[in-house]
Amino acid sequence: MTAAVDSRLAMLGGPRSVPRGRRIPAWPRVTPDDEAAVLRSLRSGAFTAAAAGEEEIPALEREWAQYVGTEHALAVSNGTAALSLALAAAGVRPGDEVVVPALSFVASGIAPLHIGAIPVFADIDPETFNADAARVAAALTPRTRAVVVVHLHGLPADMDEILALTRPLGIPVVEDAAQAHGATYRGARVGSLGLVNSFSLNVSKNLATCGEGGLVNTDDPDVHRRALALRQFGEVIESDKPRQYVSHTMGWNHKPSAPQCAFTRSQLSRFPDEAAARDANVRTFLARLRDLPGLLVPSAPDDRTHAWHILRFRLAPEAFGLPAGMAGPLRAAVVRALRAEGVPASTYQHLPLPAQPVFRRPPTTVGYPPDALRAVQGWSPDDTPATCRVIESSFVIQKAHLHPDAQPLLDLYAQAVRKVWEEPDVLVRYARDLPYRAPWEQTDEAPW
Ligand SMILES: *Cc1c(COP(=O)(O)O)cnc(C)c1O
Repeated sequence: MTAAVDSRLAMLGGPRSVPRGRRIPAWPRVTPDDEAAVLRSLRSGAFTAAAAGEEEIPALEREWAQYVGTEHALAVSNGTAALSLALAAAGVRPGDEVVVPALSFVASGIAPLHIGAIPVFADIDPETFNADAARVAAALTPRTRAVVVVHLHGLPADMDEILALTRPLGIPVVEDAAQAHGATYRGARVGSLGLVNSFSLNVSKNLATCGEGGLVNTDDPDVHRRALALRQFGEVIESDKPRQYVSHTMGWNHKPSAPQCAFTRSQLSRFPDEAAARDANVRTFLARLRDLPGLLVPSAPDDRTHAWHILRFRLAPEAFGLPAGMAGPLRAAVVRALRAEGVPASTYQHLPLPAQPVFRRPPTTVGYPPDALRAVQGWSPDDTPATCRVIESSFVIQKAHLHPDAQPLLDLYAQAVRKVWEEPDVLVRYARDLPYRAPWEQTDEAPW
């Protein structure tokens, strides 16, 4: 006698596809080698670059420059600091405009503000989720002093198209590669394509430290020298001379800690293997979902590789017999159904950057440049239609797939998605019944 299999969606009381208590493998993965590396640094007694004989920081910088393929790399305190430092080293001054894609983590837009520059947001390509060269072109003005290119989710942006635009104008491109460690574009690693480029080593990223950290890469010796000074109070740093304690410009303290650099060096030594395992796992996972109607799985054009930092899936409401305007409610239904099955689907990036209160409200804290919000005042969804469409029609899976041993869990996720896709009527009914407002129509209380 066999019991009837209960195939109802977990959302409707059926059994979960991913058993409760089934853990996501911890990320970053911490091995005995990583522990030994941190211990080695602790036992050296040299915790910062200022300590005599400190070796971990310059070693990480050397190894990371070599991995990315640039002359120089600089370790810093976090990825946001890396980006503002890169922009300042590229020559961005207070009052200058910096073009930034409208879909990114908020730090891509805040970093220009930190140096008194004005972010000007450009709409994205709805297929790649990256900056669209034509929209970048339309955002350029005589005051544009840099273009930030974000390789969002780990997919390199159309660098050649954007460089073809900016090079004749002498406008530097700065890559925000916080999500794309190791990804390649036409054979070159990201972080080697712009004038000066930033990475994050936050624990959520594909290459991490045990806390907060970042990296800046460049081939240009002058840019490198400026970045070096800006990292440490505007001082001129010469490794063969004693510290002078003379500040030539308003630098920061964005220096890294040695034990954290030791940890990242250890992570970096197996990064290529882990990235290859992740690539294989994610490709297998996506291949199992590609045939589902109305589900657009992420992919990479042939001329670049994807770091698979975040997996963003788009929904086509038409495939469910719904009008395009129902994308938001359909997404809510799918996320709800997947989460009930045990898949950590979520809606990373609820707002286009220019819709973030930080860029829309009158400056209320210290440090804003005088007309910081000029560029976005009066933002409406029509200014960034592709970004709005992508946000309303997509959901993401993040973190769960980063660990090289994630394959068995991803198999369960694939089963869960396929199960949910067996019940389009349930999703449609839920979507139709949902009271819905676009994320940017929901106003929140300002804490200031
Ligand atoms: C994480 C991230 C940053 C900021 O890095 P932190 O180390 O968290 O400061 C900047 N840009 C993008 C695209 C990111 O994902």
